[in-house]
Amino acid sequence: MLSPNETPRQEKQKPVPATRRNNKLVRSGNTKRILLLVKELEPVSLDTLVQESALTYPTVLGIIKHLEKESHVEKIAYAPTTGGRQAVLFGICGIVRYVLALHLNGEAVDITITNIRDGKIFHATEAIPVQGEVQDKTEKPRSMAHRLVPLVGEILKKTRLELSSLVKICVTYPEGTNIDSQLLSDELETALHVPTSTVADRIVLNFLERRSYHISSLQRYIFILFDRELSLSMYRGPCDTAEELPHRTYFGHMTMDVSGSGCTCGKQGCLQSYVSGEGLLQAYRDAAHQMGLVWNTAMEQEDDLFHAVLAESYKGDKAARMAIDQAIRMLAVALANVVKVEGIATIVLSGVFNSTDVQFKRLLELYIAEYLPEDFPTTPVVILGTTSPSDCSYAACLMMNAQYFNSLSFE
Ligand SMILES: [Zn+2]
Repeated sequence: MLSPNETPRQEKQKPVPATRRNNKLVRSGNTKRILLLVKELEPVSLDTLVQESALTYPTVLGIIKHLEKESHVEKIAYAPTTGGRQAVLFGICGIVRYVLALHLNGEAVDITITNIRDGKIFHATEAIPVQGEVQDKTEKPRSMAHRLVPLVGEILKKTRLELSSLVKICVTYPEGTNIDSQLLSDELETALHVPTSTVADRIVLNFLERRSYHISSLQRYIFILFDRELSLSMYRGPCDTAEELPHRTYFGHMTMDVSGSGCTCGKQGCLQSYVSGEGLLQAYRDAAHQMGLVWNTAMEQEDDLFHAVLAESYKGDKAARMAIDQAIRMLAVALANVVKVEGIATIVLSGVFNSTDVQFKRLLELYIAEYLPEDFPTTPVVILGTTSPSDCSYAACLMMNAQYFNSLSFE
């Protein structure tokens, strides 16, 4: 009904009255709140949801019925009987929505599928299907996306899932991978009709690491992924979102010496070179020469140089020990510079190092402190992470699930 003051001829379409619009907003807000409460508290009874949400019983019941109809929640159990009627316990529906993540690793790909409640239902490592025979010279080589599409199809067949069950696909890739991430997600999305994103390994691993008890309490930290290439990701607090982070950091290609050892990127004196490239090899050779030791030439062929030299140093090779010491010192210089710029002195080191590398952690802390000004307010702390690149596809699933719930809207 129109109020006497309204002039209907001005509007062709009647605007939704403010109160009704507000009611709708409140309803959609409440629906999302109840769904997130179910996710947090499952298995949960209606009574608990009423208590936790401070909404009335009929409101909560109405919302739960709606969420059940839309397959967001389901009855998952009955509460233990206390004499009276057994209360129904609700949880997030785990059989309707799934996410799929692919972690590119050279010519192999790790694939994980979880349901929307983080339950892993499939994991495998497969070879990325090779480029088919190019019959016609004018035929364009198949892109990465087109090599991945048949693989996704096969996996879905194995798991008896439909493409329509996937709410999201995510592809993760290591630092230094030469792919056009935007093109890859666009092509996959077009071929599979599922929203697809590409995210750097360091971002999904940072997300996974943050779920562990010793990282989750940190307010701010610098996350370093030490894989084949060093990469960096900042965590500046709960409002931090992955979308704002660049696809590549080039942290490993921070210049340490303008006329230093050659790097794979074609420049000279990069951190990467001193940590696991030509610079490390040179340090090893020089140290062996100085000490009059014969050095292990097989090392030059090593694919993963840092690991190889580290292993030698553990075996008691003094030159290897010195070379590793220099690598850690270079890493410390680079990190000290980041610490100075960011004002954050907590560093989570993930990837190559693991919790057994306590002596390197201490050394790294010591060296970083050496390169910080004396009046720097905080002492550097290095925390050894527990994630490794083999966790990427699972981490990506968890991240997609969290994003899915955050982005849900019931308007
Ligand atoms: Zn470089």
